[in-house]
Amino acid sequence: MEIYLDHAATTYTDEHVLEAMRPFFRQGYGNPSSQHGFGRTAQKAVLKARHQTASVIGAKPEDIYFTSGGTESDNWAVKGIAETAGKGHIITTSVEHHAVLDTCDYLASRGFDVTYLPVDENGRVTAESVAEAIRPDTILISVMFANNETGVLMPVGEIGKLAHERGIPFHTDAVQAVGHVPIDVDALNIDLLSMSAHKFYGPKGVGALYIRGSVRLGRFMHGGAQEKGLRAGTLNTPGIVGLGAAAQLAAETMVQNAKHERLLSSRLAEGLLKLPDTRLNGAGAERLPGHVNMTFGGIEAEALFTYLDLDGIAVSTGSACSSGSFKPSYVLRAMGLSVEEARGSLRMSIGRENTLEQIDTAIEKTRAAVEKLRALSPLFAQRKGGVMHV
Ligand SMILES: *Cc1c(COP(=O)(O)O)cnc(C)c1O
Repeated sequence: MEIYLDHAATTYTDEHVLEAMRPFFRQGYGNPSSQHGFGRTAQKAVLKARHQTASVIGAKPEDIYFTSGGTESDNWAVKGIAETAGKGHIITTSVEHHAVLDTCDYLASRGFDVTYLPVDENGRVTAESVAEAIRPDTILISVMFANNETGVLMPVGEIGKLAHERGIPFHTDAVQAVGHVPIDVDALNIDLLSMSAHKFYGPKGVGALYIRGSVRLGRFMHGGAQEKGLRAGTLNTPGIVGLGAAAQLAAETMVQNAKHERLLSSRLAEGLLKLPDTRLNGAGAERLPGHVNMTFGGIEAEALFTYLDLDGIAVSTGSACSSGSFKPSYVLRAMGLSVEEARGSLRMSIGRENTLEQIDTAIEKTRAAVEKLRALSPLFAQRKGGVMHV
């Protein structure tokens, strides 16, 4: 049996979404920027998708800009604000996705000042620490909506209010959250929001950046006049239609999916916590319904990952981007875990089609693998004896 517990890395494309996309490959293939009938057909479909995409975050359709996904949206938001300002100070967190972190590193190398705020033991940044970091020359606050490794939700509403009061643009990387939890950009005072279709049953390679009408961002792609001249390039009609359909579907099914995922993730965490020396990361914070990030004392998660893979169970040793390298997760390190603990951690992320039976199998296989690895591990024997110091 194959069990996919890595929905936070990507999901499959929903059958209805695929059906909505299909006509735009072979028939409705006109360029949405062309004025003939073929073009107008595609244009109509893009407009519908713009409404659907806007609706899932409570935005106006004219504030949605289609991109190639979360990474591009993050790059555009952060570099766009920086370029408009020319110089200044950026506030972000130490647990952002690399798409934000590396963009901020790049800007730091170009003379911008960047503050990377720490997080507490639950992986949350506090609004107070954001407030304290604000300077007269702060040009941007970028804090993710939910962390991709732990599912921990950040206090986005509080931070948005603060940013709004100070007149500082507020960007949130909501790639993990869109389609999974309710979001309203007005109620939360969000000025810029990144999303990506493949994290909520849409296709890969398409996403959007929400840009509040009052926020001025520079041109990101130079070329044609698409997306109000800000993001040139022939629109990806099938992808955009897929994003829209996935957004609409998510809006309709969010509550029931969340309930199902919450039930399964609780069962998974409880089942795994029966193992001694095991913890659930971010347990004290509000989290996305499907994320379970566990630390198993005395083992290497890479080995556990391999055991589970042999059993047909797909999980993650942190973010997909940093697996392959054996680096411990910087997110878990920022939460205060030791190198050894971070290396003993695994993310399982549940999707709407996982079943209770699959979860029970995953619990059973994981427990067996952890026990096997611990039996082989001198590290664990030492820990039990209380003499392990790292
Ligand atoms: C997946 C992810 C991204 C990158 O999105 P892509 O569409 O794959 O480029 C950015 N931020 C977060 C939080 C993510 O989970």
